[in-house]
Amino acid sequence: MKQKSFLRMSILLAAVLLAAQPSIARDVQKINPFFQARTTPFQAPPFDKIQKEHFLPAFKEGIKREQAEIDAIVARNQAPNFANTVAAMDHSGIFLNDVSSVFYALLSAETSDDLQAIARELSPLLSAHGDNISLNAKLFARVKAVYEKRQSLSLTPEESFLLENTYKGFIRSGALLADAQKERLRAINQQLSMLGLKFGQQLLAETNSSRIVIDSAEALAGLPESVRAMGADTAKSLGLAGKWVFTTQVPSMTPFLQSSTRRDLREQLHRAYFMRGDRDNANDNKAIVQQIVGLRAERARLLGYSTYAHFVLEERMAKDPATVMAFLNRLWAPALERSRNEATEMQAIIDREKGGFQLASWDWWHYAEKLRQEKYAFDDALLRPYFALENVKKGIFTLCEKLYGLQFLPLANIPLYHPEVQVYEVRESSGSHVGLLYMDFHPRPGKRGGAWSGGFRRAYNEKGKRVAPLSTIVCNFTRPAAGAPALLSIDEVNTFFHEFGHALNTLFAEGVYRGRSVPRDAVELPSQIMENWALEPELLKLYARHYQTGEAIPAALVEKLKASSLFNQGFETIEYLAASFLDMAWHTLSGDAAFDVRGFEAGAMASLGLIPAIVPRYRTTYFNHMISGYAAGYYSYIWSGVLDKDAYEAFKEKGIFDRPTAESFRRNVLARLGTEDALELYKRFRGAEPRIEPLLRSRGLLKE
Ligand SMILES: [Zn+2]
Repeated sequence: MKQKSFLRMSILLAAVLLAAQPSIARDVQKINPFFQARTTPFQAPPFDKIQKEHFLPAFKEGIKREQAEIDAIVARNQAPNFANTVAAMDHSGIFLNDVSSVFYALLSAETSDDLQAIARELSPLLSAHGDNISLNAKLFARVKAVYEKRQSLSLTPEESFLLENTYKGFIRSGALLADAQKERLRAINQQLSMLGLKFGQQLLAETNSSRIVIDSAEALAGLPESVRAMGADTAKSLGLAGKWVFTTQVPSMTPFLQSSTRRDLREQLHRAYFMRGDRDNANDNKAIVQQIVGLRAERARLLGYSTYAHFVLEERMAKDPATVMAFLNRLWAPALERSRNEATEMQAIIDREKGGFQLASWDWWHYAEKLRQEKYAFDDALLRPYFALENVKKGIFTLCEKLYGLQFLPLANIPLYHPEVQVYEVRESSGSHVGLLYMDFHPRPGKRGGAWSGGFRRAYNEKGKRVAPLSTIVCNFTRPAAGAPALLSIDEVNTFFHEFGHALNTLFAEGVYRGRSVPRDAVELPSQIMENWALEPELLKLYARHYQTGEAIPAALVEKLKASSLFNQGFETIEYLAASFLDMAWHTLSGDAAFDVRGFEAGAMASLGLIPAIVPRYRTTYFNHMISGYAAGYYSYIWSGVLDKDAYEAFKEKGIFDRPTAESFRRNVLARLGTEDALELYKRFRGAEPRIEPLLRSRGLLKE
């Protein structure tokens, strides 16, 4: 997923400030690192100097400066043209962006009660600042004047695209509304930003407090030594030494669900997971979702759209809800059939073992793992030693060298926000600088779940000179257990490749302007295509080496891995599609009546015929994607899946390390995405529109 904070914020954000008293302001500016020119290598954020009390004053100054920049554009005497209006807007808000990219990166990766309190205080300020820009009638009049004479301006494709998006951004933010409607829109935006924040904070609290504590060794039945050790470590870190704790964070929960033979405990842990935000306690998210969905529907209607999904999808490759629903439905039936077959196979094991129960959601991982061992005769624990984190990292570096000629140099002189973070300088084969890459691998209590990629600065041109990007990858990979390095699961290996693809997109970005507008359903193309290489035998033999013996992963194991690539694909596709449908169901509601969240969700799933042993990948009350940027957009991953599988065919045709193919992908897609129409860029690389068949085939959903 992409880091929200990294989106260019100036249009979204925004400035109501009381001027600080001049003397205080001067003091703050003397010591506040945000007010000083950066003397760090590559102008990286000076994390060694940044303190939490620096943020609010810096945000307020950033808002003030951007507002002044916008006022100056509006006050110009010259007739509006591209340079004095659109390009000038693109160049506004750099100070604010520097502050917000640091702050929101920390809020996700290294948060604290203090940062969360600052975020709550900022939310209405930034929302109002965004509205002050997007609802500025004089500014809009200038943009409109440029837009209306766009044919006569001989703009570059990047400039045309930026102008189009700037103009559309105003319309979609309410520039054409009457004053009373604009006021209502402002109020809605403020409420939505507060509610979104509250949803995330309550979810984090729920995730941190949802766990099982085990105090007798008997209850560890089935768990391998490594999983027991992890449970003991977690207990220790929570001040419960001598016990074992398993949390609802995926690296802790999944191994437990896979290996525990205590069905009652599996149920307890899985329930703790899928009831997050739905426990009718102080952190219940149901009422918040109701309000968010209602306000989004109202906002869409104000702007002239029948539903929020119509509003969102207009800007996507898919264009409208009907296209998305038809696309999801095309995948649903074959995937459901496949998942039913998987459930039948697992039930057969349960019956053979005289279990005497029906497969339930908390059994799925356990029996899937048995099935995997039966059919493919290997288990996760056998694979992990070949996927030590350092080796996987080297494997990705090797791949990037083969495809793009990149070099990665570790840097020790860059200030860090946490000592575990690693920083590399990325260089072209010629030695010229591309940008910096920060990597932060393991879970901590202050880090939200999942994995994402973002940055502290995106690439653009300043007076003809490239400003280099600072990209980040943040993950929640298995920590090293005592005496061994961090050994990754296959899922974690894929996640690493995935997030690295986002980082390459950030690092390779070319273009003069800061404003880039990548349709959400194309965002995952650069990331997902990278996953295709992860288990290619030609690459595996270069990086998948046993951490103790150095022995390359045995060919027989690779064969089994490949054979197992279709394993559990029914489940994975269905739990994902179910969440995608749920997201669409919420955002195609036209009314704002009070709905019952549980009932609505159950109804949506029943109408799909979802089998009871599968819970949607995200239920409503912990569906963070749907709340924070992927509204009516969760389908995007599989939409991008069509693109990535079709794009990877080009590599399969020419050789998976083929340099010219990689260069073409870099030049046409990675470097330009967001500066021209995504489908046009794709066709320039592939020579044709993407086809759905490679995706269906890769998931075993195509009858051949
Ligand atoms: Zn992603």
